[in-house]
Amino acid sequence: MNETDIHIIGGGLAGTEAAWTAANAGCQVVLHEMRPVRKTAAHHTDSLAELVCSNSFRSDDHENNAVGLLHEEMRRCGSIIMEAAKHHKVPAGGAVA
Ligand SMILES: Cc1cc2nc3c(=O)[nH]c(=O)nc-3n(C[C@H](O)[C@H](O)[C@H](O)COP(=O)(O)OP(=O)(O)OC[C@H]3O[C@@H](n4cnc5c(N)ncnc54)[C@H](O)[C@@H]3O)c2cc1C
Repeated sequence: MNETDIHIIGGGLAGTEAAWTAANAGCQVVLHEMRPVRKTAAHHTDSLAELVCSNSFRSDDHENNAVGLLHEEMRRCGSIIMEAAKHHKVPAGGAVA
């Protein structure tokens, strides 16, 4: 480790996305995840980026919906979460699920 390392606390969806983005920008990243040493009430695995949710990322309509616009912005920024969602989503109307 050195002074320019970025330390990210928590390897959930947000932490892994942040680590991926920073690493792709050339930063040295240290991702700190407490599981499985310490568990949470919501997570069931010891894996990073566990999808702790009912599986809905809500609307994917980037022209008429703010959440959909955020999805599109994340895709254009190279989001690993949105790339994974593209390959694993299930039919859910206009939502990403
Ligand atoms: C039952 C349920 C249903 C949900 N349904 C939806 C849904 O349908 N759609 C939706 O968008 N959201 C839903 N959510 C919310 C969902 O939890 C978040 O969208 C998403 O998981 C948030 O990601 P995150 O990375 O911010 O947090 P998390 O996924 O919770 O990740 C935080 C990580 O930090 C780790 N951590 C915490 N403290 C420390 C520490 N001190 N040191 C090291 N590691 C630490 C934890 O172990 C965890 O891995 C739901 C949540 C629950 C509980």
